[in-house]
Amino acid sequence: MFHRKDTKKVQVGPLTIGGSDQVFIQSMTTTKTADVKSTVHEIHRLEDAGCELVRVTVNTKEAAAAVKEIKRQIHIPLVADIHFDYRLALMAIENGVDKVRINPGNIGQRDRVEAVVKACKERGIPIRIGVNAGSLERHILEKHGYPTAEGMLESALHHIRILEDLDFDDIIVSMKASDLPLAIEAYRLAAESFNYPLHLGITESGTLFSGTIKSSAGLGTLLSMGIGNTMRVSLSADPVEEIRVGRELLKDFHLISNAATLVSCPTCGRIDIDLISVANEVEQYLEGIKAPIKVSVLGCAVNGPGEAREADIGIAGARGEGLLFRKGEVIRKIPEQDLVSELKKEIDVLAKRYAET
Ligand code: SF4
Repeated sequence: MFHRKDTKKVQVGPLTIGGSDQVFIQSMTTTKTADVKSTVHEIHRLEDAGCELVRVTVNTKEAAAAVKEIKRQIHIPLVADIHFDYRLALMAIENGVDKVRINPGNIGQRDRVEAVVKACKERGIPIRIGVNAGSLERHILEKHGYPTAEGMLESALHHIRILEDLDFDDIIVSMKASDLPLAIEAYRLAAESFNYPLHLGITESGTLFSGTIKSSAGLGTLLSMGIGNTMRVSLSADPVEEIRVGRELLKDFHLISNAATLVSCPTCGRIDIDLISVANEVEQYLEGIKAPIKVSVLGCAVNGPGEAREADIGIAGARGEGLLFRKGEVIRKIPEQDLVSELKKEIDVLAKRYAET
């Protein structure tokens, strides 16, 4: 699969965003940012799940002040989400954030935009322009009548121009919409029109169930077109779920190198073991494995190993027992009650071997 690599490289803390096929996973906290303890706790949970950069809302002076201590206690780059108030942006920058999400066209007078750009330049902090179909500029809406992909592109170019006029090009852009065809077309136009890295998101996509499907359809389409440098799955759920879904999606497009993949069969009348429980337990275990291992869990001893030749390790059920196989070759038989524990041991061996290479 081709992934768009010809984007500008933008540094966000230690992460180089753009210019490669790496797609970083982002999330946003749900706590009050001024509540440092809760915010840090949530970010630590996100880090453990595999989150690579995190955004917090900076909507008050207290939130802008809290950023300093939050930054001290976390291990991934911190992004400040600012709406209009340039003073909050300046405070957050002063307090050490690694990126600011603000639309320069919304800040107001030119001297205010200049102040934010100057502060970002001094500290080497990029700005993410967040175009949102739901909040397009009035003149663009009037021109197009309703939110369109062309209108969203126009908005992005408007904000980009303001920054470029101030000789600032550490820019990342997002083109979010809740309507899938609109979001996809807007990102496609953006990728065609400029080479700044793109942050992907399908905004307000829904709950864990519906939002996972909608985000996967939208983000998956964009990833399949080679578009995207950072990505957030927006869900009305615990943000840790956003990371789980995001990692799964990147695995499916071979765009993540530190995650294990599970292949499991849908089960059928041939099954003799409780495969659904086994698959869920193994899946949960694999979330803690940071190595590109492919594990297969199949219900049938007849078809199993043959169907999972590509798997590094796997099991196939039989009556009261299971077969452990590696790359399609059966290694040994295991009693059903030991199937999962033996598979976990084998996974650990492979992960250790990977870590040593
Ligand atoms: Fe059925 Fe075996 Fe295929 Fe699973 S692997 S769906 S049990 S035939």
